[in-house]
Amino acid sequence: MTKKELISLLCDAEPILWEALEKGISGAEDTHQKVARALRAAAAETADGACVSCGDALTQPSTGRPRMYCGEACKKRAYRAKRAQRED
Ligand SMILES: [Zn+2]
Repeated sequence: MTKKELISLLCDAEPILWEALEKGISGAEDTHQKVARALRAAAAETADGACVSCGDALTQPSTGRPRMYCGEACKKRAYRAKRAQRED
């Protein structure tokens, strides 16, 4: 499996994990954190990466911190999910 395939696989798993998180399935939070970390690490290593929220391809800026989300919508969605998690 190439790295690109692995990233794509993890991106496919993310929406499922989001759903598991929403349903409060045990272990979902832990697994989601691990997948998100792996995706962040992979995205940081490659010139381009994938949005950790929807899996869309990202173009990384040449300077500064690597982007994690393809856009504001995904960033907000992730933020909302995190906040909902805390309020439980
Ligand atoms: Zn996205």
